[in-house]
Amino acid sequence: MSKKKKRLNFIEQIIEGDLRKHPHKKVHTRFPPEPNGYLHIGHSKAIVLNFELAEKYDGKTNLRFDDTNPAAESTEYVDSIKKDIRWLGYDWEDREYYASDYFPQLYQFAIKLIKEGKAYVDDSSQEEIARMRGVPTDPGEESPYRNRSVDENLELLEGMKNGDFEEGSRVLRAKIDMSSPNMHLRDPIIYRILNVPHHRTGTEWCIYPTYDFAHGQSDSIEKITYSLCTLEFENHRPLYNWFIQHLEIFPSRQIEFSRLNLNYTIMSKRKLLKLVEKGVVAGWDDPRMPTLSGLRRRGYTPESIRSFARQVGMTKREQLIDVSLLEHSVRDHLNKTAYRRMVVENPLKVIITNLEEGKTIDLDAKNNPEDESAGSRKMPFSREIYIERSDFMEDPPKKFFRLGPGRLVRLKHAFIIECLDFKKEGDGRITEVECKYFEDSRSGQDTSGLKPKGTLHWVSARDAKDVELRVYDRLFNDENPGGHKDREYTEFLNPDSLRIVKSAKAEPQLLEDRDIDHYQFLRKGYYVHDDDSSPEHPVFNRTVTLKDSWAKLQKKN
Ligand code: ATP
Ligand code: MG
Repeated sequence: MSKKKKRLNFIEQIIEGDLRKHPHKKVHTRFPPEPNGYLHIGHSKAIVLNFELAEKYDGKTNLRFDDTNPAAESTEYVDSIKKDIRWLGYDWEDREYYASDYFPQLYQFAIKLIKEGKAYVDDSSQEEIARMRGVPTDPGEESPYRNRSVDENLELLEGMKNGDFEEGSRVLRAKIDMSSPNMHLRDPIIYRILNVPHHRTGTEWCIYPTYDFAHGQSDSIEKITYSLCTLEFENHRPLYNWFIQHLEIFPSRQIEFSRLNLNYTIMSKRKLLKLVEKGVVAGWDDPRMPTLSGLRRRGYTPESIRSFARQVGMTKREQLIDVSLLEHSVRDHLNKTAYRRMVVENPLKVIITNLEEGKTIDLDAKNNPEDESAGSRKMPFSREIYIERSDFMEDPPKKFFRLGPGRLVRLKHAFIIECLDFKKEGDGRITEVECKYFEDSRSGQDTSGLKPKGTLHWVSARDAKDVELRVYDRLFNDENPGGHKDREYTEFLNPDSLRIVKSAKAEPQLLEDRDIDHYQFLRKGYYVHDDDSSPEHPVFNRTVTLKDSWAKLQKKN
């Protein structure tokens, strides 16, 4: 039994330490999104962590919607979140929960605190409460309502619940410690009046628990043993533990880890929503968005996102990850799995003068050189073909290993050709190139002895299909768009984040395989079939370039 063990991350170390002391302790985690937007790549770190830890230790993971803020939440978001988690490949089975399902229980918790003299109704205004809370270095001030009687508090809370009072007129606060250096313990608000219907409970409630009063208790109700959250909740932990202690409920253990941040990206749902509302992008699933639905449409695979999330690792240190690592992970997966096809973006016609009109040579082309089992397809070769305009130069420099007068190139999966002549219009635009092909140079059976330096992609003009390409690039051209003091992140939008090629020329097989989505277009990039497509108008999105050209470009500039 010499199975090589991967080093444990700090959370696994804690869990294994616990398990040594309490071998029967269950590992029960949860992923707790607030349904106030679509999931983004940052969430994938938390999803992978929670589901895979439970799996590793033979435990379970709940999906729980922390839906305590009805004004920002909706069922559209709930549905999208469920779809995205499933797509990533995780299953919460029948454990789909909602903090809103616990509203009656949470209300009973509040009554318990009041009865024990640990909560009170405060009539102070929001501004007053903020002022009296003070600053961490000095003790705050106690509210004049702090010592209301239990009976009065119970009556007022009931009145709040029954809608007797106006929004904002009073709140329920936990009575903890107005001089604590931890501001979260300075009598935090636990219930507020909100005359807003909830996407699940409708108008049943006009008071809602705060996130801090709902989150930890929901974990306890579900008997979550490990409540994993991001570092900003470290200061909230003493408060959650105070609730656990005074409500005498199940002691979930909170462990904090660092958020995933990516350069050239913003990751807050609020800021992403603004891009959608302002019409900067076409929607939450615009392929330039860092949302899971956007990445899916961009052509990211669940495998690539899972492997990325595992790679970024688990630490307590704030991390800023280079977005090229994410791009690398999808490139890596698609290199192994994507079918290769040829598409010419900006076509230039080449006439093969020694091939008679009407004749077709069917060539055999491998679908994926990385995967023998992917088999091959037929590519028609005929007298008129298209090559990329940028692959021809009238007067090429020595190092240009593509086509020019008198030069030889190989056409991928086909023959070697030699340029004999070309035609151009008055304005200097090349309209046509004439070449001859070497019959004995067929790929795989080449006996010509010729050694051209370059290989070009091409398509048969007669057989080519028109397709639209959406060539996406990064949405922001600044490394930290959200990190500028006096400037909005919207000032750093990359004006070239989308370029549309209306009619590129594709080899016919591209439109034949209806069940394949991901492709590598040779020499161009990885592409995915877009949902906007119709048989008359096929659309492909660029997932990522073949190489990390961005890093090079940045260095040059
Ligand atoms: P946002 O600021 O984008 O709205 P959030 O933290 O408010 O994010 P929630 O819906 O509350 O979003 O998050 C659900 C879970 O995902 C939480 O446990 C949260 O800690 C985690 N999470 C959110 N963003 C990240 C991130 N960038 N990296 C790692 N985990 C994250
Ligand atoms: Mg939030």
